[in-house]
Amino acid sequence: MSRPILAYIDQAALKHNLAITRQYAPDARIMAVIKANAYGHGLMHTAHALKSTDGFALLELDAAIDLRNAEYNHPILLLEGFFSTQELALFEKYRLNAVVHHEEQVAMLDHCRHRGLNIFLKVNTGMNRLGFPVKHFPAVFERLSRNPAIANITIMSHFATADEPEENDDFKQQLRLFNQVTQTDVLPPYQQNSDYHHSLANSAAIIRYPETHRDWVRPGLMLYGASPFIDQSATDLGLEPVMMLTSKIIAIQHLRKGDKVGYGYSFQADKSMRIGIVACGYADGYPRHAPTGTPVLINNRRCQLIGKVSMDMLTVDITEATDIQINSPVILWGKGLPVEEIAHHAGTISYELLCAVSKRVKIAVNHERTLTAPVSDAQRPSCASTIDR
Ligand SMILES: *Cc1c(COP(=O)(O)O)cnc(C)c1O
Repeated sequence: MSRPILAYIDQAALKHNLAITRQYAPDARIMAVIKANAYGHGLMHTAHALKSTDGFALLELDAAIDLRNAEYNHPILLLEGFFSTQELALFEKYRLNAVVHHEEQVAMLDHCRHRGLNIFLKVNTGMNRLGFPVKHFPAVFERLSRNPAIANITIMSHFATADEPEENDDFKQQLRLFNQVTQTDVLPPYQQNSDYHHSLANSAAIIRYPETHRDWVRPGLMLYGASPFIDQSATDLGLEPVMMLTSKIIAIQHLRKGDKVGYGYSFQADKSMRIGIVACGYADGYPRHAPTGTPVLINNRRCQLIGKVSMDMLTVDITEATDIQINSPVILWGKGLPVEEIAHHAGTISYELLCAVSKRVKIAVNHERTLTAPVSDAQRPSCASTIDR
C-alpha cells in the first residue's frame, strides 16, 4: 500500500453546487472560477463536472490553453489578462477573453493587429487591487471601444467586503460607484441581457446581493461547497463539500503522565493517553498553525489534534476511542467536518486550505454520490484510479 493520504473529489457535489448557484442567480450567466487548479481540486475533472456552466474564469494561461485543447468551447476569461504582446497573440489564437485593468494593457492593445478580442474592462470601485480609477474609466472605455481589435467589452468590478455579515456601507459604496460610472454618457445605456454586459458578483455577492447579478456572475468558493460567510454554514446555504481530505492512522503511541509529543515538545500529557499518528502534515497542505484541539474525524468520531503539526504527520488524542486502530480511516476535512471549521481553528480561511493541498496528495475522483464518512477501504479506489494534480 502507498502512503494513504488522498483527496476525494465528489463530482456530483460540484454539479449540485453549480445547480444551487443557478438557483441563486437564475437570470445571470455563470463564469465558473477554476483558478489555482480549481481551488486545489484539480483542473480537468472539475471542468468536466462543471461543463454545463456558461463560461470559465482562471488566471493561468497554460491551463486556459489546456481547456481549449480539451475542446471546451466556453468563453474562458483570464482574470489578470495578458502580460505581453506575445501573450496577446495566444488570446486571439485560443479565443480567450482578457480582463483589462491597466494602462499598459491598453497600450498593447493599441498596437495589436489581431481582431475579435473580447475584453472585461475592470473598474476599481474601492478595493484598490486591479482596475482603472473611476475618474479615468469613461476615457479608457471610449478609447477601447474605438479599437478595431476589440469585438466586445464587458464592464466588471470586484467586491472587497461582500462576505461581511451585515449589509455594509463599504459594499454599498462600491456598488454605488459602479452604477455611477456605468451611467456616464460615454458608456452605452445598460440593459440586462443585451449585447453589453456587466459582471460583478463573487460567491458572497451571488448569495447575499441579487442586485449585483447582472449578466455574468463569477462563483468560486461556493462551487466547491464551502461558505464564504462566518455566520452561515455551507449546509445553511444548500451547498455540499466537494473535497474530502482523507488519510489513515499509521502508528499508535501510549503516553504516561508527563510524556511529551512532537517538535518543541509543545504538548505534554497530564494523564496516561493513547495517541494516533496520522499520515498528513503541512507538506500535504494541512495548516501548520492548527492548534491543539482542532477536530479530526476518525471512525465517525471527532477527536482532537494535539501538539505541533509536522511536515508529514500530525498527532491525535484517541484515548477514549478504543475502536481506533492502525489503518483506521481519518478525515481531515470534508463531509461531516467542514473545511471552514479547520480554517477557523487555524486562523485562516477555507480558500487557503483548499488551494494549499499539495502536489503529492493524489486526487481520487468520485463520479457517483457514494461518499459517506468514514471512508472504508472498500470505498477507497485502487491506485490506478487516482490522478496527479
Ligand atoms: C477568485 C475570484 C472570484 C471568485 O471568488 P469567490 O469568492 O471564490 O467566489 C471572482 N472574481 C474574481 C475577479 C476573482 O479573482
